Amino acid sequence: MKLRTKIHLFTTLLMLSLLIFIHIGIFLLYEQLSINTEVEQLQLRGEELLTTLNKVPAVNTDDVLRAYMPTNGKIRVFDENGNKITSVEYTLSLADIQIDVSEGKSYGKTTIDGQPVIMVSYPAIWVDGSIVEIQLIQLLNDLARNKELLKLILIVVTVLVAIPILLSNMALSSIIIKPLERLSSAMKKNATSRSYEKIELSKVGKDELAEIGRTFNFMMEALETNYKKQEQFVSNASHELKTPLTVIESYAKLLLRRGFTNEQVANEALEAIVSESSRMNDLIVQMLELAKNKEHQAPKITHLNVIKLLENTVSQMRQAYNRNFILHCEKDLWIHSDEQKLKQLLFILLDNARKYSEKEVIVTVRAIDDKVSIAIQDFGVGIPKENISHLFDRFYRVVKDRNRKTGGTGLGLSIAKEIADILQIEIEVESEENVGSTFTLFIPETIQQNEVDSE
Ligand code: ADP
Repeated sequence: MKLRTKIHLFTTLLMLSLLIFIHIGIFLLYEQLSINTEVEQLQLRGEELLTTLNKVPAVNTDDVLRAYMPTNGKIRVFDENGNKITSVEYTLSLADIQIDVSEGKSYGKTTIDGQPVIMVSYPAIWVDGSIVEIQLIQLLNDLARNKELLKLILIVVTVLVAIPILLSNMALSSIIIKPLERLSSAMKKNATSRSYEKIELSKVGKDELAEIGRTFNFMMEALETNYKKQEQFVSNASHELKTPLTVIESYAKLLLRRGFTNEQVANEALEAIVSESSRMNDLIVQMLELAKNKEHQAPKITHLNVIKLLENTVSQMRQAYNRNFILHCEKDLWIHSDEQKLKQLLFILLDNARKYSEKEVIVTVRAIDDKVSIAIQDFGVGIPKENISHLFDRFYRVVKDRNRKTGGTGLGLSIAKEIADILQIEIEVESEENVGSTFTLFIPETIQQNEVDSE
């Protein structure tokens, strides 16, 4: 069964049954209240009759009974043995009617031809001194008529109310289902045509369905961006891998042709092959680093002494490249962060500073409010202003030729940015061409665990 039919059927049935239930309640209540009122009046009549019977002379009993006879009813008197002494009646239909007063009730009730009949009875001392039972019986034909009328009114009201209920339920199911149907058809279309089409949304909609629509559009946008990024990455990666492979291939061919007879050519070819293979190796390692699933890179947070960490990192750089790295620090500073990831980030920036400059590299550590800043300053080629915003894009290099010499891949800063995001570190870049560059990290003293979890 379709969701639309289910909602429609369920709400309509529920509302109709509620309506019918309420109407049956009204009907029964009306019947009971009417009978109670009639019984009370009959009891009053009976009590007045008893008082009068005690006062009037013996001969006039039938007249007295007739005076108190209820409309559409009768009064009858039985002796102790149950034999009828006398009776006065208004209608013959009540001739020999038998009514029992059930236990705990002050009156008896039965029906004749669908019309209710009530009876109250009293023990009394008859004019001759014997004990008798006086019964007052009344046919409630007015009540029967009113009940029929009420029944008709309630049925008409039920039918009349059922129509708007039905219409409003149809409208309601359309309101709920339409956006879901649009969503479902957009999903199907996107799945079959591998597109990222969004659905049209009303600008004013604030309900849950509008929220689902907005989330869907947001998801499509994110998927499309991701897909484009991936496409770009694959095309960049294959392009980047193609260059060293072509170089290797051409030198290998040269080696085949002339390498065995000419030692100089052989050396040149092998050197080029070794250098390009190691470049390819670096590239692949960095690409794998970027391809790692972010979720599996949850940081291992520890309490770190920033100065010690920097002294250690900087001394490793000095030893590896025999360059002048100077460390300036104010005092002992502590942060909560992931030591390995932070070191990896520092290595990327220190390595860039080394690669793109000839002079010393200065590392300055400061405490700023609740953050610790680490500035890595070089006095090298610098970066033109218009290139700074692209630095963290994958495979981006300021000058391609410059990169050839330094052996860079254009992936270092992308990896640095991803690590910085995981560690909630901000990176600021200041640079001037032919003057130098400063990459500054702003590290929070404490990492917000919930933000990391949601990464
Ligand atoms: P690469 O492997 O090419 O160094 P990166 O992503 O680390 O890749 O850097 C991207 C580009 O940014 C580099 O190719 C270089 O042109 C420029 N760059 C990065 N750091 C510096 C720096 N300290 N000085 C000058 N240029 C830099």
